[in-house]
Amino acid sequence: MTSRVRTQHVQTYDCTLRDGEQCEGVSLSLKDKLRIVERLDAFGIDIIEGGFPASNPKDIEFFERVAHMNLAHAQIAAFGSTCHKGVPADQDRELQDLLASHAPIVTIVGKSWDKQVREALRTTLEENLRMIGDSIRFLKDSDVSVIFDAEHFFDGYRANPSYALATIVEAAHAGADTIDLCETNGGMLPFDVSDIVSHVVKELPECQIGIHCHQDAGCAVANTLAGVRAGATHIQATVNGYGERVGNADLLTVIADLQLKMGYRCVDDLSQLTHVAQFVAETCNRALPAHHPYTGAAAFAHKGGLHASAVSRDATLYEHIDPAQVGNHDHILVSELAGRASLLSKAASLGFDLRDHPDVVAQVLAKVKDREALGYSYETADGSLALLIARTLGVYQPHFTLESFRVIVDDREDTGALAKDASSEATIKIHVAGDRFVATGEGIGPVGALDNALRMAIGTSYPELDAIELVDFKVRILDGNVGTGAVTRVIIVTSDGEESWGTVGVSDNIIEASWNALVESIEYGLMRMGK
Ligand SMILES: [Zn+2]
Repeated sequence: MTSRVRTQHVQTYDCTLRDGEQCEGVSLSLKDKLRIVERLDAFGIDIIEGGFPASNPKDIEFFERVAHMNLAHAQIAAFGSTCHKGVPADQDRELQDLLASHAPIVTIVGKSWDKQVREALRTTLEENLRMIGDSIRFLKDSDVSVIFDAEHFFDGYRANPSYALATIVEAAHAGADTIDLCETNGGMLPFDVSDIVSHVVKELPECQIGIHCHQDAGCAVANTLAGVRAGATHIQATVNGYGERVGNADLLTVIADLQLKMGYRCVDDLSQLTHVAQFVAETCNRALPAHHPYTGAAAFAHKGGLHASAVSRDATLYEHIDPAQVGNHDHILVSELAGRASLLSKAASLGFDLRDHPDVVAQVLAKVKDREALGYSYETADGSLALLIARTLGVYQPHFTLESFRVIVDDREDTGALAKDASSEATIKIHVAGDRFVATGEGIGPVGALDNALRMAIGTSYPELDAIELVDFKVRILDGNVGTGAVTRVIIVTSDGEESWGTVGVSDNIIEASWNALVESIEYGLMRMGK
């Protein structure tokens, strides 16, 4: 490992909200997206791409909401493409939508591979150059920063180097602030990337060059590093490598490699790395693989007796870095809460001062550990953690106690799946301050029906419940250990219109897991309101 002294900054550009959302199984609500922006901003990512501001109402609202966030560092980019063939840039609807987003940075993708121009775009090579140049000049006239994403640049360069270069020279002359070279199909190897980026940097010495790689040949991170080594100073990637097909370069691995192994600077506090990985994974409703570089639970775990005893004498014998540098640990901890200091600060952020309660801290840590072994996760379930602390402190008083509930799911048409006509009905028997209430609620799904029934049952006792609503619901089936069945983890996000909180429920029965998360969401909501 060579470690050169460099303090050069490499600009980080996150594509999790666009490329990452293309990942199978990842679907982000507006709130999820805003929460990810907040977290990446706190981590010090330079540019966060928000998506295409006209593709759907959710993305349009995203740009409105994000414009009012107080970001400490990050700039937001809107993503779109060059004007259409035969259309002047100033009359192109999509380019106008990009400007209407008021994002300070606009990223537009254009074609650099002659074959793509002829066969996918079905236009001439000259018209494609016109589209690139016109679009960038039009955007620059409106005073936004422009990043030109040269799509299929590497395949294009192999097929027709002079045309591929002509497209980015056109973009540079038109005023693009950054030329980002996209390895769109993901099939290149680091040697290819290195040669081609070196050539581009020589041809366009004045221009900031970026690199955007996909994982199809297993080289996304290596290709990104090769691009930087060859002179790129802007990297585009996604958290945990989420992306379509086999994914993008993992932004966090790239940042750690650049800072720890190559001497570049991307973020100030690299020790947030593991937490950012876990936070985004939970928000995307994905488990972070234990074997993930730097951030996985097993990244620094030593099982073999010989390794483990050697590590306890000298960690550098079997560890490539000190895990604390990236906020990870050299043995498997159930979560970031597993340390006293992190629990104290987390508890403080939830309004509990535990500094004078070492016994409570020890009990909470033990409970978190036990419950996480059962499948609970507190990364995005602050509400449940607060209740756990309150119960352990002995200050928690339940607002209601359940006698029983029953849910009926009714599907009238035999379509093989729950059809649009499906409905659920829930009946709840509950006690509030000595009174017994029975209520029946309806909903499209069983959780909605339970939520409605619970609100009807306790609504007269707690009218302030009207102000809080269930805004998101995530279900994950966790693999069972050998000999036990699979369990279901449900995370519910609830909002009072200003702030939101997550709660978690776990059971081998999905309805029960949902019920537990639902009860905690309401209990925590009432506790917050001081009831
Ligand atoms: Zn991509």
